[in-house]
Order: sequence, then C-alpha cells, then structure tokens
Amino acid sequence: MGLVVQKFGGTSVGSIERIKNVANRVIDTVQNGDKVVVVVSAMGKSTDQLVSMASGITKKPSNREMDMLLSTGEQVTISLLAMALQEQGYEAVSLTGWQAGIYTEACHSNARISNFQEKKISKHLAEGKIAIVAGFQGVTNDNEITTLGRGGSDTTAVALAAGLNADRCDIFTDVTGVFTTDPRVVKEARKLNSISYDEMLELANLGAGVLHPRAVEFAKNYQVKLTVRSSMVEEEGTMIEEEVSVEENLVVRGLAFESNVTKISVCNMPNNLSGLSNLFTTLAANNINVDIIIQNVSDSENTNISFSIHSEKLAETLDVLEENKSELQFEEIRYETGLSKVSIVGSGMISNPGVAGQMFKVLSDQGIFIKMVSTSEIKVSTVLDQSDMVKAVEVLHEAFDLSNIKTPQVNA
Ligand code: ADP
Ligand code: ASP
Ligand code: MG
Repeated sequence: MGLVVQKFGGTSVGSIERIKNVANRVIDTVQNGDKVVVVVSAMGKSTDQLVSMASGITKKPSNREMDMLLSTGEQVTISLLAMALQEQGYEAVSLTGWQAGIYTEACHSNARISNFQEKKISKHLAEGKIAIVAGFQGVTNDNEITTLGRGGSDTTAVALAAGLNADRCDIFTDVTGVFTTDPRVVKEARKLNSISYDEMLELANLGAGVLHPRAVEFAKNYQVKLTVRSSMVEEEGTMIEEEVSVEENLVVRGLAFESNVTKISVCNMPNNLSGLSNLFTTLAANNINVDIIIQNVSDSENTNISFSIHSEKLAETLDVLEENKSELQFEEIRYETGLSKVSIVGSGMISNPGVAGQMFKVLSDQGIFIKMVSTSEIKVSTVLDQSDMVKAVEVLHEAFDLSNIKTPQVNA
C-alpha cells in the first residue's frame, strides 16, 4: 500500500458537480489500494472574489486581515469534499493548515513553510481516513493564520508529499500537463512528457502559472515524484524530475511570459564604490523586489542604473527613491510602464552557444525592440513592450521548433 498526495486546483473544484468528480477520482485511487492525502484550492475564482471584496473597503488592507479572509476560501472546499466522500461511504476528514501541522514563518501574504508536523495527518491516515487539507495556508508559532502567496496550494501539496514521504504527488489542474508555453495563449503549444526540476523552476519563476515556484523548489530539494495532469481528461500528464530523457533534450524546452513590468532608471548617480550597494540595499530594506539590473557608466564620474520591478510596486519604489535621494545622490528618476518579460528556458543552452543571439534576431526580424536582457545558464529573458508580448512568444515558439515536439497521447 502506497501513499499518494493529490492536489486539485480552483477550476477542478469550481462547482458541486466538479467536487463530486474529484471525490470519484480520489475513490479510484483508494480502491487501487493507496492511502490518499488530498490538497484543494478555493472553488473557482473565489479567492479573486475575496480580494475584490476587500478592495471595496480599503485600498490598503492589512496583510494579516487579508490572510484571515483569503484562507476561508480553501476551508469551504475541504469540508464539501469531505462530505462528498462521506456520502459515498468513505471515511474522510477535512483539515485546515493548522490542523494539518503546517507551520510557516511569521510573514503574512507570502509565507514560507518552516515546519511540518506530520503526525497530525498520519494519525488520521493510520485510522484509515482520507485526509483533505486546505491548500495555501499555514499557521505561525504565535497561532497567526498565514497564506503562502497566490497559487500556493501547489506548495502545500508538495511539502506534504515531502514530509509524509509519499510515493508521488499529482497536481490535477485544468490543462493536461506542462506545455511548451501557456496553451491558452499559444494554440501551437505542445505538452511535454517530462521536464527537469531546474527548467520547471525557471519557467515557474518567469511567469508560467501552472506551478507555484516554491512547489518546484520543494520537489527538487526532497526529490518528490511530481506530475502535473488534468482533473477532467484521462491522459498522461507531465513528469517533473531530475533528468529528462535524451530524445526530448531540446535546446529550448519552454517559453514563459509575464506582463506588468516597469523599468526604472536612476540617472546620474556618482560612480563610486558603494553607489550600487546603497541603492539596492535601500530597495531591499523596503521590500522592493528588483528583477533585471543594467548599469551604464556614461563617464568616469557618473552612472545610470536601470532595473525592472512589478508595476504594482511603482508608486512605492518612487517614494522610497525620493525619500533617499540625498543619500543616494542621483539627479533624476525616469520610468517606463506597460512592459512585459518574455523568456526562453532550456538546459540544452549550457552546451549550445548562440541561443541568445538567435532569440534577439528572431525578435528584431519582427521589428520587436528589446529594452532589457538577463541570462542564466538555462534561460534568456527579454523585456519588451506589452503590446509585443504575444507576438514575441508566438514567433519564438515557432523559431525554436517547439510545435514539433512528439508527445504521444497515451490514455492513463
Ligand atoms: P489551478 O487552479 O489548477 O492551480 P492554475 O490556473 O494555477 O490552475 O494553472 C493552470 C494554468 O496555467 C493553465 O490553465 C494555463 O493557462 C497556465 N499556464 C501557464 N503556463 C503554462 C504552461 N507552460 N503549461 C501549462 N499551463 C500553463
Ligand atoms: N486559492 C489560492 C489562489 O487562488 C491558492 C491556490 O489556488 O493555489 O491563489
Ligand atoms: Mg495554481
């Protein structure tokens, strides 16, 4: 008898009918002889609805109260799913993050899991019950409810799989696996049979919403056998694993993109030893997450520094820079909103020079202007006008031959 963690996302539990469908999937697994821990998200778009209710009251809700509010969404689903299983004669117990022993750092709205007391779940499993755990939430050592960041139910599932030493963790969602890029945006996107932890981590961090980045981090660190598959269609999904098979070893394996990027330029800062560190430690101290950084030394005395941020942080970043203007000694700030980031990812880049050049050429042939660039061993990211984003993804998908991946559609 094995132990399986199954996670069902918002769309998969979006109605009473779908919750009953999930109950049937769980029952199939139980009938196969496995013990099951189920992690669920809030129903449909209910987390978004809760966010919008809060914004009807205040523009600046406290993070503590937001966590209190958003964590209710998952609690609705766990109880309904437990009832659906009980109705069919199966013993099931619903558990909030706290009841499941999920402890986090004391950081509201984007907490990291710090400790998992597995006995709280294993006790129920030993009694023959199906444990149904609320995703996306935990509790601090001071008994404060926290959430793990949007999309964080994936992380709950993988963390439980790691902590309980499960045989596998299946993420059931509204697509049939991880695709070469978002199949809702590029219709030529192809499902990958497998992808490495490192590539998946880059894609997730660069905007591929199919998996929460910290879920992939956990899976890699604890070597969790992780699969993404459909909750609605019986089809093999995508395995996320350490190494992927040679025949699929493409140079570029996937494309990710995100909008709401803003570029900020801090102009004419003194070009001295501590200038850069002062600027970025000031931003970090104010919780401003900086992405790509470019420095242009215009002459020996002055330098211009540009960096990208999420557009949501623009007003806050400008305030922080203005407040510290005299200490940082810059002359002027310029910024450009309405940008996006398009990235290519693939482990094959390590041993194939020229991939970045090829990417830039494809974009320039289309008249798409690149405003910023950053690279790692296995990715190249470009910042472009938002209006060029979808076109850029489409032409890059074609240029790197991603529509021609062979993925046999095998029934599970
Ligand atoms: P869930 O509610 O099940 O967690 P999400 O909406 O968080 O589902 O994630 C699934 C969505 O991720 C898909 O509907 C798809 O639009 C999006 N997505 C983005 N990039 C990819 C990709 N590379 N492969 C598959 N889906 C992707
Ligand atoms: N319900 C949360 C969200 O919508 C967590 C999740 O679905 O993973 O972000
Ligand atoms: Mg998700």
